[in-house]
Amino acid sequence: MTMPSRATAQLTRDLTTGLKTADLEEFYRDLHRHPELSRHEYRTAGKLAARLRAAGYEVTEGVGGTGVVGVLRNGDGPVVMLRGDMDALPVRERTGLSYASETDGVMHACGHDMHVTWLLGAAETLSAGRDAWSGTIVIVGQPAEEGGGGAEAMVADGLHTRFPRPDVVLGQHVAPGPVGLYPHTPGLVMSAAADVDVVVHGVGGHGSRPESTVDPIVTASHIVTRLQTVVAREIAARHSAVLTVGRFQAGEKHNIIPPEARLALNLRSQDPEVQERMIAAIRRIVQGECAAAGCPVPPEITVGGVFTSTVNDATLDHEVAATHRELFGQDTVVDPGPSMGSEDFARLAPPGVPYDYWFVTATDVATWEAAQGETLQEKFAHVPGNHSRLFAPDLSVVAPGVQALVSSALTGLAH
Ligand code: ZN
Ligand code: ZN
Repeated sequence: MTMPSRATAQLTRDLTTGLKTADLEEFYRDLHRHPELSRHEYRTAGKLAARLRAAGYEVTEGVGGTGVVGVLRNGDGPVVMLRGDMDALPVRERTGLSYASETDGVMHACGHDMHVTWLLGAAETLSAGRDAWSGTIVIVGQPAEEGGGGAEAMVADGLHTRFPRPDVVLGQHVAPGPVGLYPHTPGLVMSAAADVDVVVHGVGGHGSRPESTVDPIVTASHIVTRLQTVVAREIAARHSAVLTVGRFQAGEKHNIIPPEARLALNLRSQDPEVQERMIAAIRRIVQGECAAAGCPVPPEITVGGVFTSTVNDATLDHEVAATHRELFGQDTVVDPGPSMGSEDFARLAPPGVPYDYWFVTATDVATWEAAQGETLQEKFAHVPGNHSRLFAPDLSVVAPGVQALVSSALTGLAH
């Protein structure tokens, strides 16, 4: 049974007529003032948990670290999981907002404070309107999305066994773009990613006697240069992939050849096989260059921060997108195609369970209109994006973001 999108949109409007927007905005500003880094989301989790309890949810805290799970059982029907991530970033805020971060060097620069606010608004709305639907809602406040690991930790801590196992998993992310768009992509939406750390062990010594050393800076430089061939020469043109050396550390002083050099790599792709191939190429190149240089000890290569790709269930995405069109207008839903960004959202869905993940744009009108460029794509490149110290979602997206999430939940409940 699937409820037509028009009926779902109307029910969403009915359920959110009494939405306490001012209260949610204050909740958001409070979270924004008090950002917490990954795995330290104690205050944020506590605030969310308290409000969920007050709204009638069975709440469990400390799931997978600082994760929060709220369950609302409301008769027969599907189990719908709604997710909001809670962590902030080590970024120094420069928005100048009256509610800017009060923690120096930490900022909600990815908008996860908005996600928690939407999640709470949707949870409260669905609880207050429980006569209008049946099934089970599972609210997930997820820690540590940035850098990954938070979703995995919750699953490892029994998210799918201690709590009702979801039939549908839904999530939305705030994004740059003129307020009021709902970008949806059926199928592949977010890329796979991994971090690779490399330590090159050479032999240190005096800068005047290189012949008595194995210079790790020269070896690591060859590695950096040769890594540029991974995407250019080893990945077919039909695939998208990025390999970035984000950090190169070695040495202390002009006249000392250091004993080691360290590289930090980040890779992105849209296909697990491409990712595996890139990691294999990195290993081969690093080991080969170290062997060629005569390094006394093999290099250390550590793969971490692995994100799988996020692949929306196309049917579910079409249904949710259709409901968003009914709610917000036909032109508000656009398909930007897959992003090279990454997410661990998909890990929350048990294998084979459909999930959908979309965006809500939140650049205020004045900033958008002042941005250089004519087209959406041109302007998009000139407004502060996620992870920028200037990223400041407009508060006008609080209420529609709640509606977007409620309507997706109702779509899932009608499955
Ligand atoms: Zn982020
Ligand atoms: Zn994010």
